[in-house]
Amino acid sequence: MPELPEVESVRRTLEPHLLGARIERAHLRRRDICHGSCTDIGLLVGATIVKLRRHGKQLAIIGSSAISKTGRRAVQENDRAIVIHLGMSGQLFIERGDELSRTHVHCVWTVRGANSSTTTRLIFRDPRRFGGLWTGKWKWVIGEHWTDLGPDAATIDAGILGRRLAGSRQTIKAALLDQEVLAGVGNIYADESLHRAHLHPETIAGALGPDAIKRLAKAVREALAEAIDAGGSTLRDYRNGDGETGKQQLRLAVYGRGGKRCFQCNAPLLSGTVAQRTTIWCPTCQRAAR
Ligand SMILES: [Zn+2]
Repeated sequence: MPELPEVESVRRTLEPHLLGARIERAHLRRRDICHGSCTDIGLLVGATIVKLRRHGKQLAIIGSSAISKTGRRAVQENDRAIVIHLGMSGQLFIERGDELSRTHVHCVWTVRGANSSTTTRLIFRDPRRFGGLWTGKWKWVIGEHWTDLGPDAATIDAGILGRRLAGSRQTIKAALLDQEVLAGVGNIYADESLHRAHLHPETIAGALGPDAIKRLAKAVREALAEAIDAGGSTLRDYRNGDGETGKQQLRLAVYGRGGKRCFQCNAPLLSGTVAQRTTIWCPTCQRAAR
C-alpha cells in the first residue's frame, strides 16, 4: 500500500498541475467513498487550489473560493480541504488517455490551470476501496482529522522519536507501524528502516537506548528520503500523480527478499510474522541491541 514516500511522490507530481488551478466540476461516482460534505462546495467546486499538504500517508488538497487567479498564498483556517486516504490501492492522478473508461474511478474533478485555456481532469480511483475522501475546513483537518496522527516520519528526530517510544511495550516493528506513534511508515519502510538501523524487529520499543533511537530516527529519515527520490515503490497498483510507477522497489534491502542474501553480510534473510505483518530481517545484522 502507498506509504509516506508514495504519497509524497503523488503530492509532488500533482503540484505543478494543481497549484493555482480552479476546480470547475466534480463528479462523485461512488457516494460511499466520500465522508463529510460531499456537495460541490465540499468537493471544492469553484475554489482555487492554494496548497497540497501531506501528513504521514494522507494528502490534503486545500482550496479557497476567496481568490481566483494566482492561488498562491498562505493557507487560512477557513479554507476548505479534501483529505485523501489512498488505503491499499488508491490512485490520484491527472488523466492521460482514456482512464475514465477504466473501472473503479470514484471521483473526477475538472480543473482549469492558472492562466490556462484548457482543462485537465484529476482522477481518484481505488479498486480495493480501503481509501476515500474526507471533506471539511482546513481548521477541522488540523484540529480533528489529523490530531491522532503522530509526527511526520520524514522529519522525525531522535528526541521526538524517543519520547514517542518511551514506556512502549510494543515491538519496535509494531510501534513503527502505529500511525499514532509516527505517521507515514508502513510495512515496506518499517522493515527497511530496521535493517538500516541494525535493530531486530521484535525488540521492545520502550527498551531502546539513546544510541539505538538515534540510529533508528536517522534510518527512518534516510529510508524515506531515498524512496521519495526514487518516486516511491511500485509493488502492485501504486502510480504517481502523472500515472508513472516508482523505482524504489528495485533498491529495497530486505522487504520482499525473504530467503535471499543480505546485501551487507551475505546471510540469508529471515521471514516471519511480527505485529501481524510479514516481516523480513537479517539474523546477523539486526540484533535486539539497546
Ligand atoms: Zn546482514
